[in-house]
Amino acid sequence: MANSGRMFRYLIAGPCAAESEAQVYETALRLFALRDDFPCPLTFFRCGVWKPRSAADAFCGAGEEAFPWLRRVSESFGFQVCVEVATLQHVETCLRNGVTTIWVGARTAVNPFSVQAVADAVKGNGCTVLVKNPVIPDLKLWLGNLERFEKAGVEALFAVHRGFADKDERLYRNAPMWEVPVALRVARPDIPLLCDPSHIAGSRDLVRQVAQTAVDYGMDGLMVETHAAPANALSDAAQQLTPEALLEMLNVLVYKSQSQNPDDLLRRQRDLIRTIDGQIARLLAQRLSVVEEIANIKREHNIPLVQPAQWNTVVENYRRHALDDSRFMEFLEKYLELLHQYSLRMQQ
Ligand code: PEP
Ligand code: MN
Repeated sequence: MANSGRMFRYLIAGPCAAESEAQVYETALRLFALRDDFPCPLTFFRCGVWKPRSAADAFCGAGEEAFPWLRRVSESFGFQVCVEVATLQHVETCLRNGVTTIWVGARTAVNPFSVQAVADAVKGNGCTVLVKNPVIPDLKLWLGNLERFEKAGVEALFAVHRGFADKDERLYRNAPMWEVPVALRVARPDIPLLCDPSHIAGSRDLVRQVAQTAVDYGMDGLMVETHAAPANALSDAAQQLTPEALLEMLNVLVYKSQSQNPDDLLRRQRDLIRTIDGQIARLLAQRLSVVEEIANIKREHNIPLVQPAQWNTVVENYRRHALDDSRFMEFLEKYLELLHQYSLRMQQ
Protein backbone atom coordinates (compact mmCIF):
# COMPACT_ATOMS: atom_id res chain seq x y z
CA MET A 1 0.00 0.00 0.00
CA ALA A 2 1.49 3.25 -1.17
CA ASN A 3 -0.95 5.43 0.72
CA SER A 4 -1.49 6.12 4.36
CA GLY A 5 -4.54 7.67 5.95
CA ARG A 6 -8.15 6.62 6.08
CA MET A 7 -8.78 3.59 3.94
CA PHE A 8 -12.07 2.17 2.92
CA ARG A 9 -14.02 0.05 5.30
CA TYR A 10 -15.91 -1.70 2.50
CA LEU A 11 -14.98 -2.92 -0.94
CA ILE A 12 -17.43 -4.61 -3.28
CA ALA A 13 -16.20 -6.00 -6.59
CA GLY A 14 -17.46 -8.37 -9.22
CA PRO A 15 -18.97 -8.33 -12.67
CA CYS A 16 -21.94 -6.30 -13.83
CA ALA A 17 -23.62 -9.58 -14.71
CA ALA A 18 -23.17 -13.33 -14.46
CA GLU A 19 -22.61 -14.43 -18.04
CA SER A 20 -21.20 -17.94 -17.72
CA GLU A 21 -19.79 -20.18 -15.03
CA ALA A 22 -16.27 -19.66 -16.39
CA GLN A 23 -16.55 -15.86 -16.46
CA VAL A 24 -17.90 -15.67 -12.90
CA TYR A 25 -15.32 -18.16 -11.61
CA GLU A 26 -12.34 -16.56 -13.30
CA THR A 27 -13.27 -13.08 -12.10
CA ALA A 28 -13.63 -14.36 -8.55
CA LEU A 29 -10.41 -16.38 -8.73
CA ARG A 30 -8.38 -13.35 -9.82
CA LEU A 31 -9.95 -11.17 -7.11
CA PHE A 32 -9.13 -13.89 -4.58
CA ALA A 33 -5.51 -13.99 -5.75
CA LEU A 34 -5.15 -10.25 -5.10
CA ARG A 35 -7.13 -10.13 -1.84
CA ASP A 36 -4.15 -9.54 0.44
CA ASP A 37 -3.03 -6.54 -1.58
CA PHE A 38 -6.35 -4.71 -1.44
CA PRO A 39 -6.44 -1.84 1.09
CA CYS A 40 -9.37 -3.51 2.86
CA PRO A 41 -11.01 -6.93 2.79
CA LEU A 42 -13.32 -7.66 -0.11
CA THR A 43 -16.66 -7.25 1.67
CA PHE A 44 -18.95 -8.67 -1.02
CA PHE A 45 -18.61 -10.24 -4.46
CA ARG A 46 -21.26 -8.45 -6.55
CA CYS A 47 -22.86 -10.15 -9.53
CA GLY A 48 -26.06 -9.22 -11.33
CA VAL A 49 -28.27 -12.19 -12.18
CA TRP A 50 -31.30 -10.30 -13.50
CA LYS A 51 -30.23 -7.14 -15.32
CA PRO A 52 -32.53 -4.14 -15.77
CA ARG A 53 -31.66 -2.96 -19.28
CA SER A 54 -32.95 -0.06 -21.33
CA ALA A 55 -33.11 -1.85 -24.68
CA ALA A 56 -35.68 -4.62 -24.91
CA ASP A 57 -33.33 -6.95 -26.75
CA ALA A 58 -30.26 -6.36 -24.54
CA PHE A 59 -28.67 -9.17 -22.48
CA CYS A 60 -30.79 -9.33 -19.34
CA GLY A 61 -28.71 -11.70 -17.25
CA ALA A 62 -28.44 -15.47 -16.95
CA GLY A 63 -31.25 -15.61 -14.38
CA GLU A 64 -31.72 -18.48 -11.97
CA GLU A 65 -29.21 -20.63 -13.85
CA ALA A 66 -26.41 -18.45 -12.39
CA PHE A 67 -26.99 -19.42 -8.74
CA PRO A 68 -24.90 -22.63 -8.83
CA TRP A 69 -22.04 -20.54 -10.33
CA LEU A 70 -22.34 -18.11 -7.44
CA ARG A 71 -22.47 -20.94 -4.91
CA ARG A 72 -19.21 -22.26 -6.34
CA VAL A 73 -17.61 -18.83 -5.88
CA SER A 74 -18.68 -18.53 -2.28
CA GLU A 75 -17.63 -22.10 -1.49
CA SER A 76 -14.27 -21.84 -3.27
CA PHE A 77 -13.21 -18.41 -2.06
CA GLY A 78 -15.37 -17.65 0.97
CA PHE A 79 -16.87 -14.58 -0.72
CA GLN A 80 -20.22 -13.24 0.42
CA VAL A 81 -22.16 -12.92 -2.83
CA CYS A 82 -24.44 -9.98 -3.50
CA VAL A 83 -27.20 -9.91 -6.16
CA GLU A 84 -29.56 -7.20 -7.46
CA VAL A 85 -33.24 -7.81 -6.80
CA ALA A 86 -36.35 -5.99 -7.94
CA THR A 87 -39.25 -8.28 -7.05
CA LEU A 88 -40.56 -10.65 -4.41
CA GLN A 89 -39.69 -13.57 -6.71
CA HIS A 90 -36.10 -12.37 -7.03
CA VAL A 91 -35.74 -12.27 -3.25
CA GLU A 92 -37.31 -15.71 -2.83
CA THR A 93 -34.98 -17.17 -5.47
CA CYS A 94 -31.95 -15.61 -3.76
CA LEU A 95 -32.98 -16.96 -0.37
CA ARG A 96 -33.66 -20.42 -1.79
CA ASN A 97 -30.13 -20.39 -3.18
CA GLY A 98 -28.48 -19.18 0.01
CA VAL A 99 -27.88 -15.58 -1.13
CA THR A 100 -28.83 -13.23 1.70
CA THR A 101 -27.01 -10.10 0.54
CA ILE A 102 -28.97 -8.12 -2.01
CA TRP A 103 -29.07 -4.70 -3.57
CA VAL A 104 -31.86 -2.55 -4.93
CA GLY A 105 -30.87 -0.97 -8.25
CA ALA A 106 -31.30 2.64 -9.28
CA ARG A 107 -34.21 1.94 -11.61
CA THR A 108 -36.16 -0.06 -9.05
CA ALA A 109 -35.40 2.62 -6.45
CA VAL A 110 -37.72 5.10 -8.19
CA ASN A 111 -40.76 2.91 -7.51
CA PRO A 112 -41.93 2.80 -3.88
CA PHE A 113 -44.23 -0.16 -4.62
CA SER A 114 -41.30 -2.25 -5.85
CA VAL A 115 -39.02 -1.20 -3.01
CA GLN A 116 -41.74 -2.01 -0.46
CA ALA A 117 -42.29 -5.42 -2.08
CA VAL A 118 -38.58 -6.18 -1.71
CA ALA A 119 -38.59 -4.87 1.88
CA ASP A 120 -41.56 -7.09 2.74
CA ALA A 121 -39.83 -10.07 1.15
CA VAL A 122 -36.62 -9.67 3.19
CA LYS A 123 -38.46 -9.15 6.50
CA GLY A 124 -37.22 -11.56 9.15
CA ASN A 125 -34.64 -13.20 6.86
CA GLY A 126 -31.52 -11.54 8.26
CA CYS A 127 -30.61 -10.08 4.89
CA THR A 128 -27.93 -7.49 4.24
CA VAL A 129 -29.35 -4.80 1.95
CA LEU A 130 -27.68 -2.16 -0.21
CA VAL A 131 -29.89 0.60 -1.56
CA LYS A 132 -28.69 2.50 -4.59
CA ASN A 133 -29.79 6.07 -5.17
CA PRO A 134 -32.83 6.40 -7.46
CA VAL A 135 -31.95 7.51 -11.02
CA ILE A 136 -33.52 10.88 -10.23
CA PRO A 137 -31.82 13.12 -7.63
CA ASP A 138 -34.57 12.83 -5.04
CA LEU A 139 -33.00 12.66 -1.60
CA LYS A 140 -36.31 12.01 0.16
CA LEU A 141 -36.97 9.00 -2.03
CA TRP A 142 -33.53 7.55 -1.30
CA LEU A 143 -33.98 8.15 2.43
CA GLY A 144 -37.50 6.72 2.30
CA ASN A 145 -36.24 3.56 0.61
CA LEU A 146 -33.63 3.07 3.32
CA GLU A 147 -36.33 3.55 5.96
CA ARG A 148 -38.52 0.91 4.33
CA PHE A 149 -35.75 -1.62 5.00
CA GLU A 150 -35.17 -0.36 8.53
CA LYS A 151 -38.87 -0.81 9.20
CA ALA A 152 -38.57 -4.35 7.82
CA GLY A 153 -35.96 -5.02 10.51
CA VAL A 154 -32.87 -4.97 8.27
CA GLU A 155 -29.86 -4.20 10.43
CA ALA A 156 -27.06 -4.46 7.89
CA LEU A 157 -28.04 -1.59 5.62
CA PHE A 158 -25.90 0.36 3.15
CA ALA A 159 -26.54 3.29 0.81
CA VAL A 160 -24.83 3.28 -2.59
CA HIS A 161 -24.29 6.43 -4.62
CA ARG A 162 -24.25 5.64 -8.38
CA GLY A 163 -25.05 9.03 -9.88
CA PHE A 164 -28.15 10.42 -11.59
CA ALA A 165 -29.60 10.54 -15.08
CA ASP A 166 -29.02 14.04 -16.46
CA LYS A 167 -29.14 14.99 -20.12
CA ASP A 168 -26.80 17.92 -19.46
CA GLU A 169 -24.02 15.73 -18.09
CA ARG A 170 -21.23 15.71 -20.66
CA LEU A 171 -18.37 13.85 -19.04
CA TYR A 172 -19.90 10.97 -17.16
CA ARG A 173 -22.57 8.39 -17.87
CA ASN A 174 -24.45 9.54 -14.79
CA ALA A 175 -24.07 12.94 -13.13
CA PRO A 176 -22.46 12.48 -9.71
CA MET A 177 -24.27 15.46 -8.11
CA TRP A 178 -22.11 15.00 -5.03
CA GLU A 179 -24.38 17.31 -3.07
CA VAL A 180 -26.99 14.53 -2.90
CA PRO A 181 -24.81 11.88 -1.19
CA VAL A 182 -23.38 14.66 1.00
CA ALA A 183 -26.93 15.53 2.08
CA LEU A 184 -27.68 11.83 2.68
CA ARG A 185 -24.58 11.60 4.87
CA VAL A 186 -25.70 14.65 6.83
CA ALA A 187 -29.22 13.23 7.29
CA ARG A 188 -28.09 9.68 8.09
CA PRO A 189 -24.49 9.60 9.32
CA ASP A 190 -25.26 6.19 10.85
CA ILE A 191 -25.76 4.43 7.48
CA PRO A 192 -22.54 3.42 5.67
CA LEU A 193 -22.37 5.25 2.36
CA LEU A 194 -20.58 3.63 -0.57
CA CYS A 195 -19.85 4.94 -4.04
CA ASP A 196 -20.28 3.00 -7.28
CA PRO A 197 -17.81 4.89 -9.51
CA SER A 198 -18.39 2.45 -12.39
CA HIS A 199 -21.97 3.50 -13.11
CA ILE A 200 -21.13 7.18 -12.58
CA ALA A 201 -18.09 7.12 -14.87
CA GLY A 202 -19.43 4.90 -17.63
CA SER A 203 -15.94 4.39 -18.98
CA ARG A 204 -12.88 2.66 -17.51
CA ASP A 205 -10.58 5.66 -17.78
CA LEU A 206 -12.86 7.82 -15.62
CA VAL A 207 -13.53 5.36 -12.80
CA ARG A 208 -10.44 6.39 -10.86
CA GLN A 209 -11.21 10.10 -10.69
CA VAL A 210 -14.74 9.41 -9.48
CA ALA A 211 -13.38 6.98 -6.87
CA GLN A 212 -10.90 9.63 -5.71
CA THR A 213 -13.68 12.16 -5.24
CA ALA A 214 -15.59 9.55 -3.25
CA VAL A 215 -12.53 9.14 -1.02
CA ASP A 216 -12.26 12.91 -0.70
CA TYR A 217 -15.86 13.07 0.50
CA GLY A 218 -15.04 10.46 3.12
CA MET A 219 -17.32 7.77 1.71
CA ASP A 220 -17.08 4.44 3.47
CA GLY A 221 -16.36 2.23 0.51
CA LEU A 222 -16.62 1.44 -3.18
CA MET A 223 -18.62 -0.91 -5.36
CA VAL A 224 -16.58 -1.42 -8.54
CA GLU A 225 -17.63 -3.48 -11.53
CA THR A 226 -14.86 -5.98 -12.13
CA HIS A 227 -14.73 -8.47 -14.99
CA ALA A 228 -12.13 -11.02 -16.10
CA ALA A 229 -12.29 -9.73 -19.70
CA PRO A 230 -14.12 -6.38 -19.60
CA ALA A 231 -14.01 -5.73 -23.34
CA ASN A 232 -16.03 -8.90 -23.93
CA ALA A 233 -18.61 -8.22 -21.22
CA LEU A 234 -22.25 -8.66 -22.26
CA SER A 235 -23.28 -5.56 -20.31
CA ASP A 236 -21.42 -2.41 -19.27
CA ALA A 237 -18.29 -3.45 -21.18
CA ALA A 238 -16.92 0.10 -21.35
CA GLN A 239 -16.78 0.68 -17.61
CA GLN A 240 -15.64 -2.59 -16.06
CA LEU A 241 -12.11 -3.06 -14.75
CA THR A 242 -10.06 -6.22 -14.57
CA PRO A 243 -9.26 -7.35 -11.01
CA GLU A 244 -5.66 -6.24 -11.61
CA ALA A 245 -6.75 -2.77 -12.76
CA LEU A 246 -8.96 -2.51 -9.68
CA LEU A 247 -5.96 -3.19 -7.45
CA GLU A 248 -3.87 -0.65 -9.33
CA MET A 249 -6.58 1.97 -8.92
CA LEU A 250 -7.00 1.31 -5.20
CA ASN A 251 -3.26 1.68 -4.73
CA VAL A 252 -3.04 5.09 -6.38
CA LEU A 253 -6.02 6.59 -4.58
CA VAL A 254 -4.96 9.11 -1.97
CA TYR A 255 -6.67 8.24 1.26
CA LYS A 256 -7.48 11.00 3.68
CA SER A 257 -5.83 11.22 7.02
CA GLN A 258 -8.09 10.48 9.97
CA SER A 259 -6.93 13.49 11.91
CA GLN A 260 -9.32 16.41 11.98
CA ASN A 261 -6.72 19.17 11.75
CA PRO A 262 -7.85 22.62 10.49
CA ASP A 263 -6.48 21.96 7.01
CA ASP A 264 -8.66 18.90 6.64
CA LEU A 265 -11.71 20.80 7.85
CA LEU A 266 -11.01 23.58 5.39
CA ARG A 267 -10.62 21.14 2.51
CA ARG A 268 -14.06 19.72 3.18
CA GLN A 269 -15.66 23.17 3.14
CA ARG A 270 -13.85 23.97 -0.09
CA ASP A 271 -15.12 20.78 -1.67
CA LEU A 272 -18.61 21.75 -0.61
CA ILE A 273 -18.20 25.24 -2.06
CA ARG A 274 -17.03 23.76 -5.35
CA THR A 275 -20.14 21.61 -5.43
CA ILE A 276 -22.44 24.52 -4.57
CA ASP A 277 -20.77 26.77 -7.16
CA GLY A 278 -21.34 24.06 -9.74
CA GLN A 279 -25.02 24.04 -8.83
CA ILE A 280 -25.22 27.85 -9.01
CA ALA A 281 -23.57 27.87 -12.43
CA ARG A 282 -26.01 25.27 -13.74
CA LEU A 283 -29.00 27.08 -12.28
CA LEU A 284 -27.85 30.40 -13.72
CA ALA A 285 -27.49 28.83 -17.16
CA GLN A 286 -31.00 27.40 -16.79
CA ARG A 287 -32.34 30.78 -15.71
CA LEU A 288 -30.74 32.49 -18.70
CA SER A 289 -32.31 30.04 -21.09
CA VAL A 290 -35.73 30.90 -19.62
CA VAL A 291 -34.89 34.59 -20.11
CA GLU A 292 -34.26 33.79 -23.76
CA GLU A 293 -37.70 32.20 -24.06
CA ILE A 294 -39.23 35.30 -22.47
CA ALA A 295 -37.38 37.50 -24.96
CA ASN A 296 -38.81 35.51 -27.86
CA ILE A 297 -42.36 35.77 -26.53
CA LYS A 298 -41.97 39.53 -25.95
CA ARG A 299 -40.66 39.97 -29.47
CA GLU A 300 -43.47 37.95 -31.02
CA HIS A 301 -46.19 39.77 -29.09
CA ASN A 302 -44.66 43.25 -29.07
CA ILE A 303 -44.42 43.40 -25.29
CA PRO A 304 -42.10 46.11 -23.89
CA LEU A 305 -38.74 44.88 -22.59
CA VAL A 306 -38.97 46.34 -19.09
CA GLN A 307 -41.91 45.71 -16.83
CA PRO A 308 -41.07 47.17 -13.42
CA ALA A 309 -43.94 45.48 -11.58
CA GLN A 310 -42.79 42.08 -12.77
CA TRP A 311 -39.17 42.81 -11.81
CA ASN A 312 -40.31 43.82 -8.30
CA THR A 313 -41.88 40.41 -7.81
CA VAL A 314 -38.55 38.82 -8.76
CA VAL A 315 -36.72 40.94 -6.16
CA GLU A 316 -39.37 40.20 -3.57
CA ASN A 317 -39.05 36.47 -4.23
CA TYR A 318 -35.29 36.66 -3.56
CA ARG A 319 -35.88 38.63 -0.36
CA ARG A 320 -38.30 36.00 0.90
CA HIS A 321 -35.69 33.28 0.46
CA ALA A 322 -32.70 35.25 1.66
CA LEU A 323 -31.17 35.42 5.10
CA ASP A 324 -32.30 38.17 7.41
CA ASP A 325 -28.99 39.98 7.33
CA SER A 326 -28.50 43.55 6.12
CA ARG A 327 -25.04 43.03 4.63
CA PHE A 328 -26.24 39.99 2.76
CA MET A 329 -29.23 41.98 1.47
CA GLU A 330 -26.85 44.68 0.24
CA PHE A 331 -24.86 42.07 -1.67
CA LEU A 332 -28.07 40.52 -2.99
CA GLU A 333 -29.33 43.85 -4.32
CA LYS A 334 -26.10 44.45 -6.23
CA TYR A 335 -26.22 40.92 -7.60
CA LEU A 336 -29.85 41.35 -8.71
CA GLU A 337 -29.05 44.62 -10.41
CA LEU A 338 -26.31 42.91 -12.42
CA LEU A 339 -28.57 40.00 -13.20
CA HIS A 340 -31.33 42.33 -14.40
CA GLN A 341 -28.94 44.29 -16.63
CA TYR A 342 -27.58 41.11 -18.11
CA SER A 343 -31.08 39.71 -18.74
CA LEU A 344 -32.13 42.91 -20.47
CA ARG A 345 -29.03 42.85 -22.66
CA MET A 346 -29.84 39.28 -23.61
CA GLN A 347 -33.38 40.27 -24.53
CA GLN A 348 -32.28 43.06 -26.86
C1 PEP B 1 -25.56 -2.57 -11.65
O1 PEP B 1 -25.03 -2.40 -10.54
O2 PEP B 1 -25.14 -3.38 -12.48
C2 PEP B 1 -26.71 -1.74 -12.01
C3 PEP B 1 -27.63 -2.12 -12.87
O3 PEP B 1 -26.65 -0.59 -11.40
P1 PEP B 1 -27.67 0.66 -11.33
O4 PEP B 1 -28.90 0.14 -10.69
O5 PEP B 1 -26.89 1.58 -10.45
O6 PEP B 1 -27.84 1.16 -12.72
MN1 MN C 1 -23.69 -2.60 -14.59
